[in-house]
Amino acid sequence: MPTALITGANRGLGLETARQLAARGWKVVLACRDAARGADAAREISGAEARVLDVGKPASAVALAAALEADDVFLDALVNNAAISVRGFDARVAEKTVAVNLLGTLAVTGALAPRLVDGGAIVMVSSAMGELSVLRDPARGHVARATTVREVEQLAVAFVAAVSGGRHRPEGWPDNAYSVSKALLNAATRALATELAPRRIRVNAVCPGWVRTDLGGAHAPRDVQTGGASIVAAVLEPRATGGFFRDGKAIEF
Ligand code: NAP
Repeated sequence: MPTALITGANRGLGLETARQLAARGWKVVLACRDAARGADAAREISGAEARVLDVGKPASAVALAAALEADDVFLDALVNNAAISVRGFDARVAEKTVAVNLLGTLAVTGALAPRLVDGGAIVMVSSAMGELSVLRDPARGHVARATTVREVEQLAVAFVAAVSGGRHRPEGWPDNAYSVSKALLNAATRALATELAPRRIRVNAVCPGWVRTDLGGAHAPRDVQTGGASIVAAVLEPRATGGFFRDGKAIEF
């Protein structure tokens, strides 16, 4: 039975992805920041287990990796789903957003990569709001050309510093920290695909579409089942790596 670990799986698209993978015969590990909410979610899915993970705290990812190692758990798929969308825009919002959506997600990926089997999959739940077209030069060029995770992390730090210093617009960054975090996540996806190719680990980004969840709001056109199916298709994608998908079809970065 293949095993998938899904971050932010106690509600919304993460929970739905876990439900759909379990229905296909996967064992699912729900990685949630609140133990009680995670346990409640796991109870409704046959064979599911909950583990504690706060994506905003790198030490939490290290502790989860150690717990999985102690329990001899190997993963066939890691679904980096947890993310935040914070109202407003200032340096604090920028820092908080990239800390979870980008730097935290990369810390989780780095900590859990040794638990992934060779030939496994990493799926980054991204968004059309992170398409490269949301950026202007010079930021756009820097993001498009980044080839290592370290470079992407440095761009995230540069974005927060630019917002803090009031220079983000001339540097080509939009007034939207969520968009920037997802554009950088897409760049990190491409870099990780190259870095993990020797282990045949496929790393892809996926857009679930605009979905009715707490994050997407009540007026989104898609239901959670359709959005979850888009994520599951990326988990099951058999060959591609370093790509961006929606509903099982490759889309432009
Ligand atoms: P959601 O309903 O707000 O759920 C977000 C999940 O992430 C919750 O389980 C939340 O846990 C968890 N989370 C947030 N911060 C966390 C942290 N520091 N550590 C661990 N878990 C954390 O959002 P959603 O709509 O399902 O979104 C899921 C993914 O899809 C996100 O990556 C989002 O960017 C992406 N996406 C969504 C849409 C959309 O229209 N909904 C569109 C494009 C992309 P708590 O319950 O503890 O807060």
